[in-house]
Amino acid sequence: MNTEAKFILSAPIMQTGGKIRLKLESVYRCEICNTVYNNRDICLKCELNHLIPTEIKSCRYSPITVNEKGYPNSITIKFNDGSEAIYKRG
Ligand SMILES: [Zn+2]
Repeated sequence: MNTEAKFILSAPIMQTGGKIRLKLESVYRCEICNTVYNNRDICLKCELNHLIPTEIKSCRYSPITVNEKGYPNSITIKFNDGSEAIYKRG
């Protein structure tokens, strides 16, 4: 047995008489932001809290003399609850 193998066996495996034991844990992951929670209700609250974009309402641009890349300076987004928000380039 080489030194590296001795080190591995001296970890928690030795405390269980050499048997490998794995512990199964259930967690919940918000499918919108990918945050992991132990609590189902908080995870559900997180997922329902996210507003989902449904439409680009408008875009504002600068002329090519100012912005050669062509990306909009700001966009107005409509969300699934009917609200709107303006997002600007940083
Ligand atoms: Zn979330």
